Amino acid sequence: MSQVTELGYVGFGISDPGKWKEYATGVIGAEWHEAGDVAYLRLDLWHHRIALHKDASDDLLYVGWRVSDEPALQAMAERLRAGGIACTAGTPAEAASRRVLGLLKLESPGGIPTEIFYGPEVHAHRPFHPGRPLFGRFRTGDALGLGHIVLREDGGAESFYHLLGLRGTVQYKVQLPGGLVATPLFMHCNERQHSLAFGLGPMPKRCHHLMLEYTHMPDMGMASEIARQRHVRFSMAIGTHANDGALSFYTESPSGWQVELGWGVQPPSTHVEYYTEDVWGHGVGANLDEAGYGIGPDTRSR
Ligand code: FE
Repeated sequence: MSQVTELGYVGFGISDPGKWKEYATGVIGAEWHEAGDVAYLRLDLWHHRIALHKDASDDLLYVGWRVSDEPALQAMAERLRAGGIACTAGTPAEAASRRVLGLLKLESPGGIPTEIFYGPEVHAHRPFHPGRPLFGRFRTGDALGLGHIVLREDGGAESFYHLLGLRGTVQYKVQLPGGLVATPLFMHCNERQHSLAFGLGPMPKRCHHLMLEYTHMPDMGMASEIARQRHVRFSMAIGTHANDGALSFYTESPSGWQVELGWGVQPPSTHVEYYTEDVWGHGVGANLDEAGYGIGPDTRSR
């Protein structure tokens, strides 16, 4: 059965390339290169994993999910059409601009421009050169994808992503103010515990956060220290998630949506379970000091 195998690439509109260059290279450690109006972030040997297009949206423009090859792309197109999802074949020019051999274009229930592609351009001849010194590298290899993304989606999103081949379910029941309970869904398509999540409640942008993972924990720790020294706004303090086991923290990107930088993501569990809180940390809001380390009482229940 044709199914997506990894979160391959993402594209964002950005209004301030200068701030983004400082943040992406200096805090995250991504490799930066530019061509015309587009800045590309490289995390591994691929031509790029993240494309930053100069525009005023400061939001997600498209998400690219990978399938293995051209027959898998054709099988996916047939399955989508049989499932009542409209999709069109990308033109050769569109494929060239995404640096892939072929793609399908469609829209998710939440209006996220979604692309399914095969054949990324891999610059095997060009070693990955991080934007700042790293002890390790970004953990993307063996088709783990670039990380995970949390999207603003609508009803019907679960069956839409099932059709793409992602699997998963509710993994948290989170108490919200006013007695509401959020039940976000986390979906996977490979050995990364989740590549996609949605259902966190209303959010101002299509993208809530993008998570990137380091192979070495000190690279995450240094990212946290550099962000603190540069007075980058933290949106969630360091902590460990209960579902993917990742040690991570969140800062605001120059576009307002968040970037989660982490280490230690576990594979998906074979049996469903859910959590009501993280293992530790990940404090938010007023209990965050500038360093992103929690101060004062936790805003959560304990
Ligand atoms: Fe996350």
